[in-house]
Amino acid sequence: MAYEEIVQQLEFLRDIGIDRVDLRRPAVAVVAMPVESPVEAPIEAAFQPSIETLESIRADLGDCQRCKLAPKRTNIVFGSGNPNAELVFVGEAPGFDEDQQGLPFVGAAGQLLTKIIESTGVKREETYICNILKCRPPDNRNPEPDEVLQCSPFLKRQLAAIKPKIVCALGKFAAQTLLQSADPISRLRGKFQDIDGMRVIATFHPAYLLRSPEKKREVWEDMKQIRAELFRLRF
Ligand code: URA
Repeated sequence: MAYEEIVQQLEFLRDIGIDRVDLRRPAVAVVAMPVESPVEAPIEAAFQPSIETLESIRADLGDCQRCKLAPKRTNIVFGSGNPNAELVFVGEAPGFDEDQQGLPFVGAAGQLLTKIIESTGVKREETYICNILKCRPPDNRNPEPDEVLQCSPFLKRQLAAIKPKIVCALGKFAAQTLLQSADPISRLRGKFQDIDGMRVIATFHPAYLLRSPEKKREVWEDMKQIRAELFRLRF
């Protein structure tokens, strides 16, 4: 590992309040949980050959009026970053700042997300970041099933166009939608599953970490897995 990367990781640890790391190896292997209770709007077959580009998908989305969120939004937040990203992060839905700027994760949670991403050894601008919903739910309420149903096909097409090696779902809604499970995030996080040619892993949402900083240690463990898996898939 390059010196700069080690410094970056140590800074990340310091920033999230970790002052010591247990270097012992876990004695018990993690066993993948079976997928149960599919939720609506599964992300399926995202890795089929695609002639679509992010631009053509964005053009098809247009001035979207497909669900009840449209009249209240300021901007559609389609996604941003590298169209050829190896690593994609998928959040829940735009918040106030994202709705104002038309870009994902630009508020306080976004600043923490940048640190989380960079702990994997990848720069934020090398990744692609988007959400399950492309419009802000009023008062940041939870996404509703009909909204997920209308919006998630566009996410599916984005993933098919990008063809990332790894997708990281941020929080309960992204995890349940991408992993087609109704299990809680505490059970879904930290385990890779193969979905349509992509390695999909879930972790806690950065906004939740702002409220529950003690969960940062688990996110750090999840990012270490992503870092190792990226390395494995490249060589
Ligand atoms: N939270 C999300 O889930 N997505 C954003 O883009 C911003 C905050």
